[in-house]
Amino acid sequence: MNPSSNPLVDCVDKWVNNIHDKIVPESNDNSQPHMEMKFESEATAYEFYNEYSKRIGFGIRREYANKSKKDGILTSRRFTCFKEGIRGVDKRGHPVGEHRAETRTGCKARMVISLDRMIGKYKVVDFVAQHNHPLQPPEYVHMIRSHRHISEVQASQKIFMNICPSKSVE
Ligand SMILES: [Zn+2]
Repeated sequence: MNPSSNPLVDCVDKWVNNIHDKIVPESNDNSQPHMEMKFESEATAYEFYNEYSKRIGFGIRREYANKSKKDGILTSRRFTCFKEGIRGVDKRGHPVGEHRAETRTGCKARMVISLDRMIGKYKVVDFVAQHNHPLQPPEYVHMIRSHRHISEVQASQKIFMNICPSKSVE
């Protein structure tokens, strides 16, 4: 048996993604970033995106910010998935940080906020929810346990059977 194509691992991946799909729309409206969403400050926006990322299962980076030359106020900020971009190359042509494993996948997931001076708040002007890599949801077991009345084992079996019916007869 080829260990790299373990059907059980495939199924668990699908199972986790399936839970992910199910849980997100059920949570309250403010839990997922959307265009025109407003924040009191850049810090609040960071906090929000950070909480969202923890729930979904990815890490974030605080990318570039623009500041007003006139008054030094932060006018826009971009938050990205930590797998955004690809490793740079140094002056000698060697990849930067060669000793570490490559973790970036060029993921495009991001949230960009921009200051609306009319209302004195930051608005979401760009949001990409899709990732190009598997998500790692550390909180799901806890969430399932606290939100479901049937036991976790029953829930797992039910979802598992729905997703992988063919595996159960193999
Ligand atoms: Zn990502």
